[in-house]
Amino acid sequence: MTKVNNWLKSAQIRLWPQCCQLCGDGPLDFDSVLCDGCLNDMPWNTHCCPVCALPLHHDAICGRCLRKPPAYHRALATFSYRDPISHIVHGLKFGQRLYYGRFLGEQLAETVLRAEHLIMPDVLIPMPLHRKRMIERGYNQAHEIARPVARRLELPIALDIVARQRETAEQSRLNALQRCRNLKDAFCVTGSASGLHVAIVDDVMTTGATVGELARVLVVAGVRRIDVWLGARAPLAR
Ligand SMILES: [Zn+2]
Ligand SMILES: [Zn+2]
Repeated sequence: MTKVNNWLKSAQIRLWPQCCQLCGDGPLDFDSVLCDGCLNDMPWNTHCCPVCALPLHHDAICGRCLRKPPAYHRALATFSYRDPISHIVHGLKFGQRLYYGRFLGEQLAETVLRAEHLIMPDVLIPMPLHRKRMIERGYNQAHEIARPVARRLELPIALDIVARQRETAEQSRLNALQRCRNLKDAFCVTGSASGLHVAIVDDVMTTGATVGELARVLVVAGVRRIDVWLGARAPLAR
C-alpha cells in the first residue's frame, strides 16, 4: 500500500505540484504551477522581431531576417529564454517535470490568441525527437507543450508527417558550422503534407537552425505555409 501511495504521490507531484515551483508559495489553485507574483515577473517576450521572435527593445524586423528571411512565415514566442524560463525548460526536458510542459503550452495558447493578424494553421507539428531519445526520456517535450495548445485552440496534432531520422548531438553544445552539419538529413517526411498550413511547436529556439532545417524539409514536401510557435526564444548571445 505504501508503495502505491508513494507512486501516487510522485505522479501527483509530476502532474500538479501544489505550491509555486519558483518561490514555494502555496497552496496554488488546481492546475497552477506558479503563483501570480512569479508569473508577473516572468521574462515575457513583449518586444521582438515580428518574423523570428528574437527578443529586442523594439518591434522591427531584425537584421538577420532582413538579410536572409527564414523558410517559415512567422514565429511567436511567449517568453525570452532567460532565467527562470531556462530553469523551467530544463526541468521539463531533463527533470520529468511534465507540468512545465502544460504551463508553457497554456501560456503559448494565450500568446497565439493575442497575436495580431493571426491565421490559424491546419495542424500542429511538435518538433520531432529521435526515437532513441524519445525512449530514454519517455516523452517529447515539444509534444507536451503542443497538447494544451491543441486543446485550447481546437487544432489537431500531426505526429505522422515528419520524423527525426538521424540522431543529432544537442545543438547547444556545437558551434555554428557544426550545428549546420549536425542537422544534415536530420528530418524525413513520412506523411502527406502537401498544401497544408502547419505550426511547428517547440520549447526553445536558439539560433533557429533546427527549426529552419525542419521548415526547409516541409517546404520541399509541399507545405503551403509554416508558422513557428515557441515556449521561449533565446536573445542574441553576447
Ligand atoms: Zn512564486
Ligand atoms: Zn528576426
